[in-house]
Amino acid sequence: MQALVLEQKGKLALREIDLPLNVGPGDVKIEIDTVGVCGSDVHYYTHGAIGPYVLREPMVLGHEAAGIVVEIGAEVKNLKVGDRVCMEPGIPNLSSRASKLGLYNVDPDVRFWATPPIHGVLAPYTVHPAAFTYKLPDNVSFEEGAMVEPFAIGMQAATRARLQPGDVAAVIGAGPIGIMVALAALAGGCARVFISDLSADKLKIAAQYPGIIPVNIREKAFADVIAEETPGWGADVVFEASGSPKAYQGMFDLVRPGGAFVLVGLPVEPVPFDVASAISKEVRIETVFRYANIFDRALELIASGKVDLKPLITGTFDFSQSIAAFERAAAGHASDVKLQIKLKP
Ligand SMILES: [Zn+2]
Repeated sequence: MQALVLEQKGKLALREIDLPLNVGPGDVKIEIDTVGVCGSDVHYYTHGAIGPYVLREPMVLGHEAAGIVVEIGAEVKNLKVGDRVCMEPGIPNLSSRASKLGLYNVDPDVRFWATPPIHGVLAPYTVHPAAFTYKLPDNVSFEEGAMVEPFAIGMQAATRARLQPGDVAAVIGAGPIGIMVALAALAGGCARVFISDLSADKLKIAAQYPGIIPVNIREKAFADVIAEETPGWGADVVFEASGSPKAYQGMFDLVRPGGAFVLVGLPVEPVPFDVASAISKEVRIETVFRYANIFDRALELIASGKVDLKPLITGTFDFSQSIAAFERAAAGHASDVKLQIKLKP
């Protein structure tokens, strides 16, 4: 079938490729409807690698997907043909030690869509374990379904933060993931979420949500704003969602004594870390790698209307325009949050 194939760094093709579509007893076959273009997909396109994951042979891109069930395996009980679904892109080994601990996201054996050498789902069909396929509530569209994956990262960050009602949060970076983190922090009970960036366009998108307060660090240091707004105390939780090494300079000035610092953004190089400052405030440091046991709760929040991801879908392309979608994403327009590709007209 036709798929969007990353042939090598910088070279995409929409072409025929053989992908296995045999439906095992616990699997469902899904006709793909919508796929979001993720920063990681774009990074493989522009750089050919992310950290230890290096593209060595052609790979189908795409891992933020929703579609419709067209076939089910003999043992599948939770889904039926015709169900509208979204999918969790990582398939762990369910008998691994990590999975038994509930930490299947850090199972070393996890097979994750569009992470070399595993193919993604920018293709008309895929086969996936029913256990990692989630029925969309009737009022959740395919487009929103394809947003669950990036939102799940925000939800994982909020979960790792162990938020309490009325917390004040600070989010560094107003890119797609920063906004997802801010929305999840609000949904998790934060009273106010400050978000920082250099880009007025990105901040404007974040600030359309009541409760999210933009801070342009070209105009004012984030730590100064947090100090003013929390009379010198600091944010209960700080989320690092920029991946910028600069975010680590003075990072603990933002957080209150005994607060939490949650690392979400992936710096491309090792960063210096001020251990003494962390210790003097007894800061709790948490890290986020993808998500585990989040999709059901993300769908609950979206269906309830408490979280509206629709304004973040800023561009839609037909499948035949997939390469143009990636070129657009690689250009990195500040006003683009999430671009999506529609497989079905
Ligand atoms: Zn993604």
